[in-house]
Amino acid sequence: MADDIEDVSFLPGENLNRKSVYEPSVKQRCKQLVCSKGRATAIVVFCAVFILIIAIIAAFARSGSSSCGKLNTVLATPTPNITKEDIYATNGDIFPWQDIRLPDTVEPISYDVFLDPDMKALKFSGTVKIKAKIKATTSLIVLHTKNLTLTTVLVKPITLTGPTRTGIEIIIKFNANIVSKLAGFYLSSYKTKSGEIRHIGTTQFQPTGARQAFPCFDEPGLKATFKMSIVRDKKHIALFNMPLNKTEDYKNGRVVDRFQESVKMSTYLVAFVVCDYKSKKGKTKSGVDVAVYAAEDQIDQVDFALKVAITVLEYYDDLYKIKYPLPKLDLIAIPDFSAGAMENWGLVTYRESAVLYHPGESSDSDKQWVAVVIAHELAHQWFGNLVTPKWWDDTWLNEGFASYVEYLGTDKVDPTLKMVNISVQFQKSCFVSLFSFL
Ligand SMILES: [Zn+2]
Repeated sequence: MADDIEDVSFLPGENLNRKSVYEPSVKQRCKQLVCSKGRATAIVVFCAVFILIIAIIAAFARSGSSSCGKLNTVLATPTPNITKEDIYATNGDIFPWQDIRLPDTVEPISYDVFLDPDMKALKFSGTVKIKAKIKATTSLIVLHTKNLTLTTVLVKPITLTGPTRTGIEIIIKFNANIVSKLAGFYLSSYKTKSGEIRHIGTTQFQPTGARQAFPCFDEPGLKATFKMSIVRDKKHIALFNMPLNKTEDYKNGRVVDRFQESVKMSTYLVAFVVCDYKSKKGKTKSGVDVAVYAAEDQIDQVDFALKVAITVLEYYDDLYKIKYPLPKLDLIAIPDFSAGAMENWGLVTYRESAVLYHPGESSDSDKQWVAVVIAHELAHQWFGNLVTPKWWDDTWLNEGFASYVEYLGTDKVDPTLKMVNISVQFQKSCFVSLFSFL
């Protein structure tokens, strides 16, 4: 080490730097970090003052804005003066609601969704029945829909049990195309070893994709229960957040899978898949059924993911002292996927590289990556899914916690990876890389 360098930043090892897998450019920036103690002290003081000023500005801005106060009180108020720049309905009329947040007058209680996807014609049709409570007198019911053709819209008064007895049932029939858009209910596909193209109908709803699959109150704070029925060909399987309840005959030699009703959850965590995958299955000590789904040609690469999922789920049960709330957990490899993975409650979807591990062919860093991503998504089964921010500006809470707990979960799977030590190095490298931008 040369004498004129007083201090050198310490960085995680090449193969074990998780951030380098996410963002190689950050690793390259980190590699260049070398600075003196005096300069580092000055930078720390400068950063502290800078962050304090930003925090004060943010605190005043939040207290004065309506959006933060809405989280625990009321949602939105309509804009009183509608101008030509405002939102228009599809029929050309000015839309009667102008706020980005839904009005706080109608609250969904339960969804009953029936979906009939045609994986040959790449279209789907469906019906959603939403039971909702009326919280305040209104002549307006506003909910979300995108890229769906609505063919029937009915609203019926109903009587609810409990203190708020006034309710409605909204019944909407709709249809749409299944296209490769990586959001909503979309088309993915893979090629078999013999060269045949097979279609998969899958979902990605976070943040606002649910409204592209069925009309809904598509805000994270508006939790409700979900019942799902999916029509499929006999050669396919259908998966949902919850286990299958029963399968019945349907028209034209097809069948309909009816799934158990979910716990109360946000729309962005709903998921369903129609495909011809195979699975390998196991069970946790507390009796949760765990399965990993992949194409038949890749099913020999799911054993490590199954072991990680069972180990981590059992560990989080003990760590949080709250039992995983669903009866099953499925992990599924999706060929066309926009993110690394998505924590849909009970049906976690993964990019293939984040869940498949081929012993003898995949590298050690591939193996570590699979463990880290699974541990991250399973952390969300509690942080994000069980406890959910009411609005997207607080998502950093569940992302931050899951990004920490993933190291603990991965450490449980394989202590030789020393992930907790890497976590400390990772925090240090990020802190030091902040300096490099100043
Ligand atoms: Zn996350």
